Amino acid sequence: MSDDCIFCSIVAGDIPARTVHETDDVLAFLDANPLARGHTLVIPKSHARHLGDLDDDLASDLFAAVTELTPHIQSTVGADGANVGINDGAAAGQEVPHVHVHVIPRFDGDGGAPLHAVGGERPDLTDDELDAVAKAIGE
Ligand code: AMP
Ligand code: ZN
Repeated sequence: MSDDCIFCSIVAGDIPARTVHETDDVLAFLDANPLARGHTLVIPKSHARHLGDLDDDLASDLFAAVTELTPHIQSTVGADGANVGINDGAAAGQEVPHVHVHVIPRFDGDGGAPLHAVGGERPDLTDDELDAVAKAIGE
């Protein structure tokens, strides 16, 4: 629990939320400023700022909830698809410093964009540079 974290306050019941799913370790609630009907945030109940801060069990529980909820949300709101994503770090647009997975229902012709639209200017990488990046990440 972090004192000045809005999502910890939701977990503690100090701030209201429209909860849609809860387990011992994971909570899901509607985004207060939804990008689409059914836009849901899925969070670990314990405070962690970054995805890499989660231990394996919690990461697994979090993803299990996302996996279960995504098709359920989609069918509930009659969506045709969904974008599922995490803004990890301020540079990626993370505003609330508590890990949260966005499940954003998508509708044919809704005017939205794919996750590819979140990137900045695309780097022009040579095959050698791609090989080097793959090697470095794989080490
Ligand atoms: P991010 O930019 O990934 O950190 O997104 C934070 C999300 O949290 C935004 O989509 C906000 O609309 C949402 N949000 C902020 N405060 C609340 C709240 N009290 N209840 C529900 N959603 C919230
Ligand atoms: Zn928190």
